[in-house]
Amino acid sequence: MSSNQKYQNLIEEFMHYASQRNANEPEFLEAVREVAETIIPFIEENPKYKGKKLLERMIEPERVISFRVTWVDDKGEIQVNRGYRVQFNSAIGPYKGGLRFHSSVNLSTLKFLGFEQTFKNALTTLPMGGGKGGSDFSTRGKSDAEIMRFSQAFMQELFRHIGPDTDVPAGDIGVGGRELGYLFGMYKKLKNEFTGVLTGKGLAWGGSLIRPEATGYGVVYFAEAALNRMGQSIKGKRVAVSGFGNVSWGVVKKVNDLGGKVVTLSGPDGYIYDPDGVSGEKVDFMLRLRASNQDVVKPYADRYGVEFFPGKKPWEQKVDLAIPCAIQNEFDENDAENVVKNGVIGVVEAANMPLTPEAIEIIQNNKLLYVPGKAANAGGVAVSGLEMTQNSMRLQWTAEEVDRKLKWIMQNIHENCVKYGTEPDGYIDYKKGANIAGFIKVADAMLAQGIV
Ligand code: GLU
Repeated sequence: MSSNQKYQNLIEEFMHYASQRNANEPEFLEAVREVAETIIPFIEENPKYKGKKLLERMIEPERVISFRVTWVDDKGEIQVNRGYRVQFNSAIGPYKGGLRFHSSVNLSTLKFLGFEQTFKNALTTLPMGGGKGGSDFSTRGKSDAEIMRFSQAFMQELFRHIGPDTDVPAGDIGVGGRELGYLFGMYKKLKNEFTGVLTGKGLAWGGSLIRPEATGYGVVYFAEAALNRMGQSIKGKRVAVSGFGNVSWGVVKKVNDLGGKVVTLSGPDGYIYDPDGVSGEKVDFMLRLRASNQDVVKPYADRYGVEFFPGKKPWEQKVDLAIPCAIQNEFDENDAENVVKNGVIGVVEAANMPLTPEAIEIIQNNKLLYVPGKAANAGGVAVSGLEMTQNSMRLQWTAEEVDRKLKWIMQNIHENCVKYGTEPDGYIDYKKGANIAGFIKVADAMLAQGIV
């Protein structure tokens, strides 16, 4: 009997408690269950953590802020959006995590993201707590001026709740360099302070080299470490990627650097299949696609004469590695069955929780490589942590220095996952390894700081 089955009753009891307190929050409960299934057996087997209500405390955000964001669009009409900041856990450092501007944003998504962020940030070895925020505002179809007015209105409330030693937001879906610039400008105006209150800033105003690439680079460094363990490498591998935004862009660049080939990109409209690989000027074209605010990938197919599959997902292509970079629950059991059938080596999550629980089960039951986002995509927030360090020191490291530190952090996370996730048959359960390693750091800090 696996330890998971042995503790099934305790897990179900805990999930009953969590579901009652967080009804109508399916994404949050999905993230909680994934952690509970690996952490409850660990707590039961490690008396130091027993009877302390650690998990009950960890699933309760320290603070949730919800606010109205009103702004005027280009037609002169008043728009009302909802803004949030979920300050989840500050046991090991100031709240830290991105802002997401996307139509799917609600409290459930932000609670799942803030909860995951707490574990992810703990894995980076840097002193950062977990938080997440955003709005149901979508940049799709908006003008630059509208994006600026919305970002300014959002910051007019958020500025009260954040600060370089309190809570340091960054980007996420829909929030890149442009949006962060507008957010930072308004924060600085309101506070009359130039501090490292946000990360992902532009290079000229306190940003870090490699931050834009960091999430994608980190994912590929992790994938390379995992493949090396299996006696393989990215070199010569064909990779399917979803999305076409910042994370996918970093993945594409690093896969190319390491001699692999990314053959798909996707958007809400479908996916493109480029058998020659996304390389050269096609990589820069990805940036233009994002800047167009249209949220479609088809123009890539039109421009480079490759195949476009409307309404389809890239997981039906035969590749060596699948790297979902778009959004939660984008990869379901059908996709998992597809990639297994096509002989994939594994799936590495670059987005946050892109695989449904059923998909994870299929991948892991087939003993294929599965790396959860909280481990694989931690490179983004890790370089955010390095940006905070540079801001505190008031200096800027070289790209080589940041990249070297990023690589070290990703290899360290990989080793930690292996340490806590190796099964008796030698299979590495990266999900279990990441959860336990993250939990230990946060739990130890919480125990030391008393009941607060
Ligand atoms: N949004 C990114 C994430 O999911 C980065 C957060 C940050 O840099 O604070 O980890």
